[in-house]
Amino acid sequence: MTSVRIDLYSDTVTKPTKEMREFMCAAEVGDEQRGEDPTVNKLQEMVAELLGKEAALFLPSGTMCNQIALAVHCRPGNFILLDRSAHPLISEAGGSAVLAGAVLYPIDGKNGQFTAEQVDEAIQPESRYQSPIQVVSIEQTTNRPGGCIWPIEQMKSVCLKVREYGAYCHMDGARLMNATVATGIAASEYAAFFDSVWIDFSKGLGAPIGAALAGSKAFIHEAWQWKQRLGGAMRQAGIIAAAGIYALEHNVDRLAEDHRNAKLLASRITSAPGITVDPLVVETNMCRFSVKGTGLSSKEFANRLLHEHGVRVSTPERTIIRAIPYLGLSEADVEVAADAICGLANKIAESK
Ligand SMILES: *Cc1c(COP(=O)(O)O)cnc(C)c1O
Repeated sequence: MTSVRIDLYSDTVTKPTKEMREFMCAAEVGDEQRGEDPTVNKLQEMVAELLGKEAALFLPSGTMCNQIALAVHCRPGNFILLDRSAHPLISEAGGSAVLAGAVLYPIDGKNGQFTAEQVDEAIQPESRYQSPIQVVSIEQTTNRPGGCIWPIEQMKSVCLKVREYGAYCHMDGARLMNATVATGIAASEYAAFFDSVWIDFSKGLGAPIGAALAGSKAFIHEAWQWKQRLGGAMRQAGIIAAAGIYALEHNVDRLAEDHRNAKLLASRITSAPGITVDPLVVETNMCRFSVKGTGLSSKEFANRLLHEHGVRVSTPERTIIRAIPYLGLSEADVEVAADAICGLANKIAESK
């Protein structure tokens, strides 16, 4: 069996629903590049308000939000401090080196989260030998480490430390709404410590495309120049911005279902032979588990799971698998996937 029956690869595999498509169809549009698309303008206002910032900018992707924010904050040669698992370091094709001309300086956090002390240790005072640390970037929730939520106090103490050094704080909030739904802490409360922050519509929120970056008016003015420079400025983009509006109006609270499903999956596979899952680490929509005890690598296990059971997962590390429920994936689907994972683990154990 090679067809994908249940896809737990990522929350990016969500497809726009019929209702979202209809809403997109009906969107009022104009020339976005000239600020004349009413739907884009509305979405930008919604995001600025949601994140408690002066202004926001609609962009095609989260990657472009990170790249533009870092390019606005940095001059060539500056350092950007982030966790070793952070998206700009591992999944953006070295963009910050090309566009901002900056040096990405990774530190080793726990579950993608580092402390104010680690920032203090990493930051060297500016000298003739070292360009300043210009930005510290934080991922909420942490993607690779499995959807972990930065505790707000830790986030705050990191940002206060960063400010002591006169550097900027940037939040990669691809899944900020997952943190908000899980903790009840408002997105604007998390965002308050940051100079720039963005959310992605194309993950668990279920839109086919789009993200929005927020900050001060001056920051967004410069971000607009980068958007234009990179060819990210569009025309009748209201068609796609409408999906973002629909997502914010209908798909935020339901993220709680994905969180429940991720926990359900964790609890169903936790006693399978050779599998280790720490249910405490299932904080949002990702279930991360180790297959080390099966003797297989994550890729070998994932290949067999796909070919023998039609269940697709991702393999962020050599023995770590990540499974992500999302909009359109039911509790029953998760049960089937859990049975498949347990079945495969049992089969491997028996053949030893
Ligand atoms: C997905 C993701 C991005 C990039 O967003 P795209 O919309 O896929 O470009 C950046 N950071 C994190 C943490 C992500 O999960």
